[in-house]
Amino acid sequence: MIDNSYANQSIVCTVTNCKNHNNTKNFCSLEAIKVGTHESNPTVCQCTDCQSFEAKCECK
Ligand code: SF4
Repeated sequence: MIDNSYANQSIVCTVTNCKNHNNTKNFCSLEAIKVGTHESNPTVCQCTDCQSFEAKCECK
């Protein structure tokens, strides 16, 4: 089981569907994340992605 009780206050995040999301606060529980893009020429923030995202899955 991942320990996501840590709140890295340098990484604000509201993606509660991610298993790295802090249990109770809108922060990431990782020490660092990787941000990337799925576009060849990113122009708006929607073009960027947290590549450290891991889907919460009840089946695991
Ligand atoms: S890994 Fe990315 S999406 Fe997941 S909680 Fe951390 S910052 Fe948010």
